Amino acid sequence: MSSDNPLLQRSGLPAFDRIQADHVAPAVKAILAESEQLLKQAESAPLGDWDALMNPLGQIDLLFEYGWSPVGHLLGVANSDALRAAHEAVLPAIVQFGLKSKQSKPIYDRFCALRNSKGWEALDNARQRIVTQAIQSAEQAGIALEGAAQTRFNEISQKLSQLGSDFSNNVLDATKAWHLDLSNKADVQGLPDSFLKQAAAAWAEDNDGKANPQDGPWRVKLDGPSITAFLQHCRNSDLRKEAYMAYTTRASSGTHDNTPLIKSILKLRQEMCDLLGYENFAALSLSQKMADDTAAVQRMFDELLAASLEGGKRELREVSELAHANGHKGELAHWDVGFWAERLREKRYAYTEEELRPYFSLERVQAGLFALCHRLFGITVKRADGKAPVWHKDVSFFEIYGESGQHVASFYLDPYSRPANKRGGAWMNSCITREVNSAGKRLPVAHLVCNGTPPVGDSPSLMTFREVETLFHEFGHGLQHMLTTVDVRDVAGIGGVEWDAVELPSQFMENWCYHRPTLLGMAVHYQTGEVLPDELFDKICAARTFRSASVMLRQVQFSMIDMALHSGFDPDGPKSVFDLQMEIEKKTSPMPPMPENRFLCTFSHIFAGGYAAGYYSYKWAEVLSADAFEAFEDAGLDDELAVAETGRRFRDTILSEGGSRHPMDVYRDFRGREPSTKALLRHSGLA
Ligand code: ZN
Repeated sequence: MSSDNPLLQRSGLPAFDRIQADHVAPAVKAILAESEQLLKQAESAPLGDWDALMNPLGQIDLLFEYGWSPVGHLLGVANSDALRAAHEAVLPAIVQFGLKSKQSKPIYDRFCALRNSKGWEALDNARQRIVTQAIQSAEQAGIALEGAAQTRFNEISQKLSQLGSDFSNNVLDATKAWHLDLSNKADVQGLPDSFLKQAAAAWAEDNDGKANPQDGPWRVKLDGPSITAFLQHCRNSDLRKEAYMAYTTRASSGTHDNTPLIKSILKLRQEMCDLLGYENFAALSLSQKMADDTAAVQRMFDELLAASLEGGKRELREVSELAHANGHKGELAHWDVGFWAERLREKRYAYTEEELRPYFSLERVQAGLFALCHRLFGITVKRADGKAPVWHKDVSFFEIYGESGQHVASFYLDPYSRPANKRGGAWMNSCITREVNSAGKRLPVAHLVCNGTPPVGDSPSLMTFREVETLFHEFGHGLQHMLTTVDVRDVAGIGGVEWDAVELPSQFMENWCYHRPTLLGMAVHYQTGEVLPDELFDKICAARTFRSASVMLRQVQFSMIDMALHSGFDPDGPKSVFDLQMEIEKKTSPMPPMPENRFLCTFSHIFAGGYAAGYYSYKWAEVLSADAFEAFEDAGLDDELAVAETGRRFRDTILSEGGSRHPMDVYRDFRGREPSTKALLRHSGLA
């Protein structure tokens, strides 16, 4: 009986307390059957009729929003074998339906007809964007190709996805294939306890033997936490060299060699662009982004580089000086820099996460965040526990009210880590998307999920500073989802926002963690009531800009290599990808590059993920968020009225309009001009 199945609900809030694994199969069956009907309806809609096309498509989205999204959500926050099995069992059918609707030629034809119809000019910006984006993504999926071109396109797509997964498997296997065993206590001197614990456990596990953190043996591996700690803390330069060389040449020879895959991937991407009519992959990628073209991205690189090169050299000098003062002989090698940089950091700014924790109780931080949002955006966040069914007792529910007291949105906050059945990391997800039409008004609801430290005994949940930043970050995404005023769902909230602009509100919110009154307003010792000492606040701020030129150079370097590989580089030409890598490293590094470096062979972001010709997005969004924060600095951070006025403008443009207009137009409306790199450079101490 469908009415008993909570996944078949069509309104209100999902019944998270009632959804069971055995609801999934019958619900998905019913949803797919109804969706097939609705898809047919849309496919036969009269040409040029917005409602006839969009109403059934919107109903499909709604069926999935209530019937399928909660399943994915619960997999992340309340995982169980039964739920996973139920999910896997229906996944192929869901994927198949998704492909079918995305690749529907009749739907594509109807979007094209809308664009060419007499009524086009009468459609508002949001609706025009929906049509334009739908046409573009269908065309980039090869829908307009015919005959041999289409066949070849499909072949290329399949090959690329195979090559992508081969690439990441090689990275994984090559990472696993190496280790360095240590049994001499002198070799692990200076390594932190957490590393010793992990390294002894790794040795014991792999050898089926006994090892203990104090006496060894220890096994160093190439996964992130292990190699990073080792290179930062191992005092023996020869051992560091051995590990560093292994790390930077992973997947570049032998059975897990990614070199030939890189070449094939680049060639196939170019061939795909030739079929679709794009000059190169960079042009294809940028067609879906806020950045206009490669020239705009290059301008950003040039500005960031010009401001960072000198600083990078100075930072290297400082590290060298410290090394020499402590007995290091000769020039620093690549495997020495990380070690001595860490000593410099300790000398200058060291504080431990544990020192800060007592000042950041979740309760206080939450209150501080909500108070800030009230000052900036005029919204009021109210606890509404009990108004919504939840999946775990620690989950809270909140409602957001607008300036005139009207309810505008709601959100769930699932704050603590539960390693047994909750995925790590932090994220914001849509639960319900805003929609206003003749059928009524649906208010947006967001999921905010973090993995903070749960309360222990009598003490409340105490957060690290990083966890505080993360909460602000995710809440920034949430604000864009919840404060949208767009009525059509595809471009409401974060829907339809270009990838390089999506991190703007989230990183913008992080900036407030470095604003003294905001931070000190919530950083109060949970036992003594003492406010975070200035000295600790200063250290937090100093740590933010520690070696910032070097960090900037490295990110710009990765982004430039990515762009260069995807705009006109010939994989069959005389120059190898590694030659190109060296060329760019020479221009962007304060140190002569190491010719043996093969980091491209592990650059999964661009060869196995979605970041090809898009790695620059990280920097692009940072530029935007820093520049947006500067609007508040310009207005005067201590001037309540000016802050409120600027905050309302941020709300009414970036948060409210979201994906309904081109992000550059929205940004210009907020800032009065296009973004500039100046604020990011200044915040990074590089102005
Ligand atoms: Zn984010």
